Amino acid sequence: MLTERIARIMAKHYVCDSCVGRQFGQLLSGFTNAERGRILRNALAMAIDAGQELEVEPSNFFGYKFRQNKDFEKAITKPGNCWVCDGLFTRLDSLAERVAKQLKDYDFNTFLVGTIVSRKLLEREEILWEAVGIETAEPLRAEINREIGKRLEKLTGKRADLKKPDIAVLVNLQTGRAKLNVNPLYIFGYYKKLVRGIPQASWRPYYKTSVQDIIAKPVMAATKGKAHRIHAAGREDVDARCLAWRPFVLEILKPKKRAIDYKKIIKQINSSKKVLVKSLMCSNMDTARKLKEASPDKSYRVLVVLDKAVKKSELKNLKKLVGTIHQRTPERVLHRRAELLRKREVKAIKWKFVNKKSFEMFVTGSSGLYIKELISGDNGRTRPSVSEVLGRKAVCKQLDVVNIGRIKI
Ligand SMILES: [Zn+2]
Repeated sequence: MLTERIARIMAKHYVCDSCVGRQFGQLLSGFTNAERGRILRNALAMAIDAGQELEVEPSNFFGYKFRQNKDFEKAITKPGNCWVCDGLFTRLDSLAERVAKQLKDYDFNTFLVGTIVSRKLLEREEILWEAVGIETAEPLRAEINREIGKRLEKLTGKRADLKKPDIAVLVNLQTGRAKLNVNPLYIFGYYKKLVRGIPQASWRPYYKTSVQDIIAKPVMAATKGKAHRIHAAGREDVDARCLAWRPFVLEILKPKKRAIDYKKIIKQINSSKKVLVKSLMCSNMDTARKLKEASPDKSYRVLVVLDKAVKKSELKNLKKLVGTIHQRTPERVLHRRAELLRKREVKAIKWKFVNKKSFEMFVTGSSGLYIKELISGDNGRTRPSVSEVLGRKAVCKQLDVVNIGRIKI
C-alpha cells in the first residue's frame, strides 16, 4: 500500500516534500518531486484523519487542520530541518544565486551541474531506500543537479547541456561553494608563415616567438585565457616558410570571454607581417583531432645547391625520383624519433635551372616525406635522392611549403 510506504518514510523524523517525493520520482511525469511529496503528504493526512492507524512523526503535518482526528492534531509540533537533506532543498535558491555570481566572470552558453554530496546525506537516503524500496526512487544527486540547473538557467539565461558544456559547475553542498571547470575554447583557422626561423609551436627558451605565440597573442588578450595550445595538420621546419594555407586549431584554456571579434583578431595577427591567418571561427576538439590525424599530400619549392657544376640537360634525371622513396629516420631527428624505414611517394617533380651549381625544384609528395633528406640522401639513409640521381652532393638551401592537399573536417 502506498500510504504505508509514505508512512514508513515519515515514521520517526520530519522529511521534506522533496525528499518524500523523490522516493516516488519515477511515478507520473509533469510533477516536481516537491509536488509529488506534497500530494503524498496530503493523501497520508487524509488517511490519518479518516482514522487509519499509522506510526508517523506528527511534525510532518505542521499546519494541517484535522477535522476528525483531533488527538493527532494536538501532537503536532513545528518541525526542524528535514532529517534526510538537512534543509538543503530550502537553500537551493540562495545556493544557485551564489553560483550564478561566480559564473558572472565567464562568457558561456552552456553549463553542466554536478554536486559533491556529504556522506551523511547519502547514508540517510539509503536508509529510506531500505524502508520503502528503491524501485520508484530517483537518486538524490540527480534531483539536486537538476534543481540547481533549473535555477541557474533562470538566473543566467543560459542552457544546461550534459554533452558539451562550456562550463562544468561542481557544487560542494557542504561548503556551498562551486568549483568551475571551464572548458577550452577552440578556434579554427588557416595560417601562412612568411618568414624563416620561427617554429610552429612555442619552443621557449630556444625561440623567442612562434606561429602559435603570434596567433595566440591577440586571442589571449580578447579571451583572457590562462594558456594556449596549437593543433595543426602537420608542421613545417623552423627554417622553412609555409606559403600554403595550413589549417590549425588554437586551444585556449580557461577563457573568460568566448564571443570575440574574429575580424579584429585576424587584422592584429596579420599586422605581424610574419604570420597571416584567415577564416578564424569557433571550433571544437574533434576538429583539432581530425587535423592532427590528417595526412594530405604536400607540395614544396626547394632551392637546391650542388657541390659540382651540372648541365641543364642533366637535370632531367630528377624524373627518376618520381615513385617510392625509402627513408630511414633522418639523422637530425633520430634523437626524438624511432629508427624506422618509411616508404613515401614522390608524386610529381619539376625544376628550373638557376645556374651551374643551383636549381629550383618543385616536389609534390605524400604526407611525411622528409624533403631535406630527399635532396641530400642523408648519407644513404634516403634512397633514391637528388644527390644520388645527379651524382653530386646536393643540399637544400631554402624550403617552402607551397601547397597542402584538402583535408576533410
Ligand atoms: Zn529533505
